[in-house]
Amino acid sequence: MHTFRGPWPEGKSGAMALTFDCDVTYAYAPARPGPDGPRTGAALFEKQPKRLQGYSRGLYGVNVGLPRILDMLKRRGVSGSFYIPGANVERWPDDFRRIVDEGHEVGAHGHEHENLSLYKDDPDGERRILETCIAAFEKHLGQRPTGYRSPAWDMNLHSGRILMEQGIAYDSSLFAEEAPYLLSAAYPDQPDLLEFPIDWSLDDATYYMWFMPPHLMAQFHDPDEVFRIWQAELDGIIGEGGVFTLTCHPSVIGRHHRMNILERLLDHVTARGDIWLAPLSEIAAWVQPRMARDSATEAAE
Ligand SMILES: [Zn+2]
Repeated sequence: MHTFRGPWPEGKSGAMALTFDCDVTYAYAPARPGPDGPRTGAALFEKQPKRLQGYSRGLYGVNVGLPRILDMLKRRGVSGSFYIPGANVERWPDDFRRIVDEGHEVGAHGHEHENLSLYKDDPDGERRILETCIAAFEKHLGQRPTGYRSPAWDMNLHSGRILMEQGIAYDSSLFAEEAPYLLSAAYPDQPDLLEFPIDWSLDDATYYMWFMPPHLMAQFHDPDEVFRIWQAELDGIIGEGGVFTLTCHPSVIGRHHRMNILERLLDHVTARGDIWLAPLSEIAAWVQPRMARDSATEAAE
């Protein structure tokens, strides 16, 4: 399958993006879709979790994890990509405006972190969710997102087209490769949406998002073990000219012993010196015209 594996800026070997999914309470107290479409304004605030436990775990992400991540990125002069449900932007506009103010990318992540498998036969409902999310970004963050990450990495057959209609330039929710590709190259009848592949092994939730039994739960892992996995994947993917996309959640990675893994990974990136570390929006802007040129050349041959 055709993927983009360089050339990268300044002769770098490959690219890397630090991405953060800001689910806040929806990671622990998921919302059910409203009967009349996505909730917003007063209707949104009526819908609060009935149990404080899940709510408080999400709040840790916005109160502690997010500022800790932003402080670390500022100290190191690194920019990341933050994917946020629109309803969270509406609830905590000041916290999320800091992301924009400090020069990071903000991308769409559903409105109430909806389970999109419920919308597999309802493209209009899915379109309303995206429009509502984008409206919250425009109102509170002063910009339209150009990137998208689906809640729980779930994509329907119509999702790619809806994203492109709304001016989304890339998605980062699917697997299939270790370098950017177009959906049209991988799946039948899909549009030319640029995809930055992800993986569960490159997600902090896999190792640390713990739930009480009998729910699906991750065991807590030794940070050295997670670091070794991420470093091996980073070196392997960069060695083949791809893009290493790491997915973290402020409520999960924000603990001290886990932030250490990120710091060590960034130390490794600095020591190597051949990795282009940038938000996915910047990597997309580099890849897109070059991929289009590659396809045109292939078509002419
Ligand atoms: Zn999420």
